[in-house]
Amino acid sequence: MARELAVNSTEGNADGAGGPIVFPTLGPGLYSALRAAAPKRIVLQVPAGLVRNAHELAERLRTEVHAQVVLATRPCFGACDMPSREEAPGAELAVVLGHAPIPNVPIPRPTFFVEMRETGGDPEALATTVERAELPKRLGLVASVQHLDLVDPLRVALERRGFGVRIGSGDRRLAYPAQALGCNYTGAEAVADGVDGFLFLGTGQFHPIGLAFAVARPVWALDPLRNALEPPVDRADLVRRRLLLVASVHDARRWGILVSTFAGQYRLATARALEERARTRGRETELLYFDRLDPRDLEGRAFDAYVNTACPRIALDDGPNYPRPVLTPPEFLMALGELPLEPYRFDTYH
Ligand code: SF4
Repeated sequence: MARELAVNSTEGNADGAGGPIVFPTLGPGLYSALRAAAPKRIVLQVPAGLVRNAHELAERLRTEVHAQVVLATRPCFGACDMPSREEAPGAELAVVLGHAPIPNVPIPRPTFFVEMRETGGDPEALATTVERAELPKRLGLVASVQHLDLVDPLRVALERRGFGVRIGSGDRRLAYPAQALGCNYTGAEAVADGVDGFLFLGTGQFHPIGLAFAVARPVWALDPLRNALEPPVDRADLVRRRLLLVASVHDARRWGILVSTFAGQYRLATARALEERARTRGRETELLYFDRLDPRDLEGRAFDAYVNTACPRIALDDGPNYPRPVLTPPEFLMALGELPLEPYRFDTYH
């Protein structure tokens, strides 16, 4: 069943696009809503993991909706970088797969988000796994969007086994309680004081690593479909590596300040504030604009280091791919001596 999400942005949606419409999966509900909207042209955007199926999905939409469907070739990494009007001219409506809307990000056209929710995962079996592994009794629960429907049943199953489970609601960048977003774990932060560890429901290391940066608590990842519990993330090692990088650019003079023009990654005010702090401290700076950043774009430039105001995960996950060190804004302030090294501060995008 589709839902309309409230939009929390101070800027509002561009051109009165209305609130995002959310569907749990691809299926008849989505197709009939699209037929009712009767767009002439739809732009379909898929995450990197679904690129292989994109043409088949586009064809299915054409058949079901009887509309033109064009593919946005650039995969989306989040609901922060949806196709702009220029990227998909004439498309009246967008279908975005695999992401929840980000309530405070303006959308350029009516957009149907298909969150690709998973229905699998046995809460009793998962709770037994957690109990056998002797995780802390006071646990915070966090999940990727695909597994959010399992959060409450798992909470109940864990509580039956004597666990105290906390589920936090985050700020205006998060659509749901317990939701993990790679740049914002404010839901987890809201309950961190009342727990001794976090359990992340989902696959891969992207969110467990982000969560470990954001909360000074042990983080375990539980793959709900395989019922496989990973060892806790080594936060101390993650932070140590970042602080070594900060120390290595302590004396850097020429800084490039990276600014993305994607609607949900655009932090010009932050960039300007960092520029002012850097100049006060005798550093040279230049603002560099881009939409999607490619390491090759920074080759051959006369900078000693960069600070990135776009997606925080560019610095944290992809930093080694760049020709010079890339810091997050809090790390940059540490390098300037404006923030202490401890406690480590995750670059939360609010
Ligand atoms: S800014 Fe980065 S982490 Fe946040 S939603 Fe966008 S791609 Fe994901």
